[in-house]
Amino acid sequence: MTVEISPVIQPPSRGVGGLGDACDTILATLLVVGCFIACKSSYDCLRRWRGKLNVVVVGCGPVGLTAALVAVRSKRAKKITIFEEKTRSQLMDRPHQIGIEPRAVGFLKKLGVDFDNMEGCWHQERFYTRIGIFQEYILSLLQQITEPPLDIKLGTKFGTNHVNKLSCPRALTLVIVADGLRGAGANILGISDEFIQETCKSFCAVSSMEREDQHNLPTPENRVFRLKMDLSAFGAEFRIPDISRAVFFLKIFGTFRNRYMMLMCNRGDSNLVRQLRLNVDPMLMRNIFQESYNTYKSKGERKMSDTEALNLKASTRLTEVKMSYRREPLVYIEEENMVVSIEGDATRSFNYSLGFELNVGLRGLECLDKFIDQLVLADGLNDIVKALNYKSKCTKRLNEDTIKHKLHSEMSRHKPHNGGTNNNNNNSTAKDTGS
Ligand SMILES: Cc1cc2nc3c(=O)[nH]c(=O)nc-3n(C[C@H](O)[C@H](O)[C@H](O)COP(=O)(O)OP(=O)(O)OC[C@H]3O[C@@H](n4cnc5c(N)ncnc54)[C@H](O)[C@@H]3O)c2cc1C
Repeated sequence: MTVEISPVIQPPSRGVGGLGDACDTILATLLVVGCFIACKSSYDCLRRWRGKLNVVVVGCGPVGLTAALVAVRSKRAKKITIFEEKTRSQLMDRPHQIGIEPRAVGFLKKLGVDFDNMEGCWHQERFYTRIGIFQEYILSLLQQITEPPLDIKLGTKFGTNHVNKLSCPRALTLVIVADGLRGAGANILGISDEFIQETCKSFCAVSSMEREDQHNLPTPENRVFRLKMDLSAFGAEFRIPDISRAVFFLKIFGTFRNRYMMLMCNRGDSNLVRQLRLNVDPMLMRNIFQESYNTYKSKGERKMSDTEALNLKASTRLTEVKMSYRREPLVYIEEENMVVSIEGDATRSFNYSLGFELNVGLRGLECLDKFIDQLVLADGLNDIVKALNYKSKCTKRLNEDTIKHKLHSEMSRHKPHNGGTNNNNNNSTAKDTGS
């Protein structure tokens, strides 16, 4: 049998042959690119659907519990294990009051937190409650979850004995360490304890007094005044020509147990600030706080007496406000196929208790969901490194933002109050300047 091979027929040449070929090439390229994108997104969808990681959380403080909730809602966790050294009743009994600022309220609502069902109260768009109540609420929420499986180990201190059992080389494990200011979780996992301290370019002094009428309900109080001080009665060194340059903010805030006053000013070179930083007279700050309180106390409140001022717990001078943050908040341990992320007070804190809103709250967790997503989709070491870079950038931005702006924006966004009576005493005067 013979097979006739027909001659190759050349297509008739088109007048605009070059252009036609170019169009074909472009179409073919578009088709290939389209196919690639479609395949890649189907492959990603498949990975998303199948890909999951193990999540371990150390610490059931507000940050650890919220991180666990983020992991649940991400739907990327195969299993979540939580370690907490305190028992449930110890967690519930944590007494101090917390104020959840509007941004954190929005974040928590998206995670399914129903503030209508949490004991507490609203004030100036913030939700105030006791830290124990907040923890109990999130714990109960987590306990209702059936998928993924949750193993909440209360009364179990995370230690070296747990480290070897954490990793599973075949699946990536994310360990979120949120064990607070004095936690040793990061250290146990072999992460350096090195902290960097940076100035917030502000000076501060704080005083506190116990409430006479202590009760267990949150007692929100948060007022800010802008003032200038005239301390000339204290002597020649306070009779200063550059008084106008020293702008002070006075914040009066409180909880159900205590009332606080915070005096803050920007770092500047004014004579007054310098004098107050070097002050050695223990009565000077108490006098300033007494006078400020008597000037800005709410209507109907009685004045602070000299004896009460003597018992005031107060800083003796203005001190620089600083934030400490971990040099290594995020680590990938390749041999264990484990990513460790340190969150909350375990990774950054102020040298001061500055009161409502001046903590970083839950902001560190805002990019956790996307980070988990990227880790789950990671196809090899390069992608894991990309995910780590993303989280590191978020952390860096948050630290920079907190250091540069948080303190000032929190103080200056408050409208200055004009209430209170202006009773100058013979030592110091505080005047509301308006803003
Ligand atoms: C939303 C929010 C609002 C806030 N509002 C205010 C406010 O109004 N005023 C204010 O002053 N501060 C406020 N803060 C700050 C707050 O008081 C603390 O900063 C906060 O408690 C820190 O949370 P955390 O989860 O990082 O640490 P922590 O609350 O300290 O929790 C750490 C947990 O880890 C556990 N732990 C430690 N080591 C181990 C271990 N080895 N194994 C197992 N468990 C361990 C501890 O028992 C503890 O339960 C707020 C914080 C948040 C998040």
